[in-house]
Amino acid sequence: MGLVDIEAGIKAAAEASGRGAQNVHLIAVSKVQPANRVDSVLESGHRVFGENRVQEAQGKWPGFREKYGAVEVHLIGPLQSNKVRAAMELFDVIHTVDRIKLARTIARIAGEMGECPDLFVQVNTGEEPQKAGVMPSALAEVMAECRALSLPVIGLMCIPPAGEDPVPHFKMLAEMAKTHGVDGLSMGMSGDYETAIACGATHVRVGSAIFGERGLG
Ligand SMILES: *Cc1c(COP(=O)(O)O)cnc(C)c1O
Repeated sequence: MGLVDIEAGIKAAAEASGRGAQNVHLIAVSKVQPANRVDSVLESGHRVFGENRVQEAQGKWPGFREKYGAVEVHLIGPLQSNKVRAAMELFDVIHTVDRIKLARTIARIAGEMGECPDLFVQVNTGEEPQKAGVMPSALAEVMAECRALSLPVIGLMCIPPAGEDPVPHFKMLAEMAKTHGVDGLSMGMSGDYETAIACGATHVRVGSAIFGERGLG
């Protein structure tokens, strides 16, 4: 596997469900990967990446951007309140808005900066106690607050419970996005991105299938 195979898989999955591949954005999840692997994906021309930690991303993306020019970097991991400003300065898109307090902090800093990354609201579709994300029952309240704050929420994001069939979760997320009038669906990883596309994913987050297993240099 690698970038070329995943791009082909996305195209096939999109076409199989009557959608164009240009409607599915591939976020290459580069967290923890050695720099040479990230370099080779950048060398091949890909320009959309995902990271799950603010600090790790701060350590590597300014350098890659200096070397390769504009790169779109997405935050796909939890965001602590004390890292919001740093995250907003570094990332083009934040997928993990998961509480009202965080939405308010983002809105305040966006007011100071005069700009705001595009946002996804993360939903804990499996209602797992240890997992980040808004509980489905609280989503309406969070979306209403984001709207009141004029935040640029473009979609919803989920990470289905490990070991479960992801389809009900992907379908639930698609349904909720429709209810709340947003188009973006950030769902699907290495093991299930084709399934996610069949359920309407607009952003798939693929790491190990592009770069190889994490932690094996
Ligand atoms: C690590 C990660 C991914 C990518 O996982 P792979 O299985 O390596 O494709 C996707 N989404 C999130 C939120 C992640 O943390």
